[in-house]
Amino acid sequence: MSEVLVLVEHVDGEVKKATFELLSAARRLGEPAAVVVGAVGTASKVKDALARYGATKVYVAESDDAVNYLVTPKVDALATLAGRVSPAAVLISASLEGKEVAGRVAVRIDSGLLVDVVDVERSGDDVVGTQSIFGGGFVVKSKVSTGTPVITVRPGAVEAEAAEAVATEETVELPAVDPARATRITSREPAVAGDRPELTEASVVVSGGRGVGSAENFAVVERLADALGGAVGASRAAVDSGYYPHQFQVGQTGKTVSPQLYIALGISGAIQHRAGMQTAKTIVAVNKDAEAPIFEIADFGVVGDLFQVAPQLTEEVTKR
Ligand code: FAD
Repeated sequence: MSEVLVLVEHVDGEVKKATFELLSAARRLGEPAAVVVGAVGTASKVKDALARYGATKVYVAESDDAVNYLVTPKVDALATLAGRVSPAAVLISASLEGKEVAGRVAVRIDSGLLVDVVDVERSGDDVVGTQSIFGGGFVVKSKVSTGTPVITVRPGAVEAEAAEAVATEETVELPAVDPARATRITSREPAVAGDRPELTEASVVVSGGRGVGSAENFAVVERLADALGGAVGASRAAVDSGYYPHQFQVGQTGKTVSPQLYIALGISGAIQHRAGMQTAKTIVAVNKDAEAPIFEIADFGVVGDLFQVAPQLTEEVTKR
């Protein structure tokens, strides 16, 4: 069975949930082989977690350059391995960085690219990706006809399922980065989400829209999110109005989330917002307009004022 290369996303040795989803998807296509690019010592921290999700091999590309440069070391590692092992596919998370890595890898190895797929499957010798396009209005199945399929998978779209494996380790020598052709990282600042989980990783997301009315009022959204141990999201209208920072925007031009529970407070449910959250397992909407489109996709809807409903909900949850 061919290997399927999975680029591991990690922060300080902690593997992101999206990687476990990729490993689960990779198992349908062949033998999942995780590619760890990072500081010296990273692989030893993440190897066991990767094996718990079925990685039978861990390729280790560790160097100082891997920490100091954006994307280039990851592209180098994947392109080198693609040439060496002829994988059935290369799977990368459709994060901002993942999309850039994928585009560059595809060019480097002269292969086709499928972006933002929500599912992958085997069809004979082919790897077929499913994309949900035009804000979820159409489902498209496609395959790469040239070279090794390079595929970015939308975080949260595929279920992460554990599958114990024993992973062997293999080193990948990274070429020295040419500083003239790469972007060097000069500083890092953690995104300010306080103690809350990262938006795309959270199992509960509480989002506020224009209906929240002001930056100060977003405290109502935050309190409910904190009571549920969730992340805070925002619609584009809320972000554009300056109520909440852009990194928390959910939707077509923001982040895609797929939590167990998504609570939309004062959000109308425009198609561009839905594109980023409609795969949530359970959707709860609070809106004072009974005709708001968000109710078309909500599992539970409350027609009411969010400033009455959300605090009551927070109180009830806190009591338990
Ligand atoms: P509105 O549509 O104004 O809805 C506010 C809702 O709040 C209303 O339904 C109202 O009834 C309700 N409300 C008001 N007061 C209360 C109250 N007290 N209690 C309860 N309910 C109340 N949007 C995104 O969100 N994410 C994107 O990534 C995104 N990308 C876009 C990309 C493009 C190319 C374009 C053209 C648009 C994009 N948009 C995106 C914008 C999108 O079309 C909508 O304009 C936006 O989602 C609306 O945000 P909203 O629901 O918060 O505001």
